[in-house]
Amino acid sequence: MATLSLFTPSFPPLTAMKPHAIAAPTHLASDEHRWLAVLRRSDTAARPDGSGDRFFYGVTTTGIVCRPSCPSRRPRRENTLFFDSVHQAEAAGFRTCQRCRPAGPPPEQEAAARVDRVRRYLEQHAEEGAVTLAVLATIAELSPFHLQRVFRAAMGVSPAEYARRLRAERFAEALQAGSVTEAVYAAGFQSPSQVYAKRAATGMTPGARKRLGEHQHIRYSIVDSPLDRMLVAATDLGVCLIAFDTSDDVLREELHSRFAAAELEEDNGRLADHAKTVLQHLSESPTAKRLPLHVRATAFQQRVWKALEAIPHGETRTYAQLAAEIGAPKAVRAVGSACGANPVAPVVPCHRVVGSNGSLTGYRWGKERKAKLLEMERAGKDA
Ligand SMILES: [Zn+2]
Repeated sequence: MATLSLFTPSFPPLTAMKPHAIAAPTHLASDEHRWLAVLRRSDTAARPDGSGDRFFYGVTTTGIVCRPSCPSRRPRRENTLFFDSVHQAEAAGFRTCQRCRPAGPPPEQEAAARVDRVRRYLEQHAEEGAVTLAVLATIAELSPFHLQRVFRAAMGVSPAEYARRLRAERFAEALQAGSVTEAVYAAGFQSPSQVYAKRAATGMTPGARKRLGEHQHIRYSIVDSPLDRMLVAATDLGVCLIAFDTSDDVLREELHSRFAAAELEEDNGRLADHAKTVLQHLSESPTAKRLPLHVRATAFQQRVWKALEAIPHGETRTYAQLAAEIGAPKAVRAVGSACGANPVAPVVPCHRVVGSNGSLTGYRWGKERKAKLLEMERAGKDA
């Protein structure tokens, strides 16, 4: 399929974004400055080399020692003592605070570690679509509000914006690698329309959609099948779409919406062979030929689709089993998306994946057709 280069990122690549250190003031020598830092709950009262806070304060009325940044209620000035180290405070009989944990790692190192965890999570789960702030907050072990602040301080953007750029970047990569329909799913968007709705984020121009599928010549044929009318479409290299519906007009519309700018030609003669092969696949004929496919996919989709092809006829797997099989047990939703993005069902048999309780979950061509396909396969197996 045509190589598309409609994507121009309008922001620096994420790889160029590095967390930056938080600057620390250099003079906190006098108790007056230290007291001001406590009043501001300053988290910049740390040593520039990251080796810890420049000082700690003990509260004589509670016997507790805190970091200057501690969120607990500020003490009165006359009840506050300053120490150069936690050790010193403990030697004077103070206990460490349970909230700011002054004996733990310095706050900026801890913040960097939390931001890192969130960043890694977003990078690993970008293909699954939107991740909620609540989930990220749990991973960071911070309140959603605090996470927003810490993440932005380190990365310059909010977690949501970071995730959006990550998806846009992968979308751009996928566009380079293959057809737009697959690229859309690979980028973690739910549907093409959502991508265009978010074109401000992806840098797509409104005219870009018109160019989808440009320079492609696609032939198609619509024939009878056990699952109503079946459309088979192919480029010169292989089958790029198999679709089912009761209406030929709906099938043509489906083809047109997927390859908006391609040159489409109904050609029952040259496509008769391909259509026959698909029908043989449907009926599990032992004489069925290999069907050339011209379907571009991301590496992740290819893994999922290969695992689908390995499911024996007449058997089913759950999405969780499939995710485990490709070594990504947590990517159950991404596996679901990859199944849904498969444009050549039932040749890549995504109908053999069912819900965890064995229920027939969604199928692009309807649950009834999914049930019928499975029924046909089981009957073929018993015969
Ligand atoms: Zn504290």
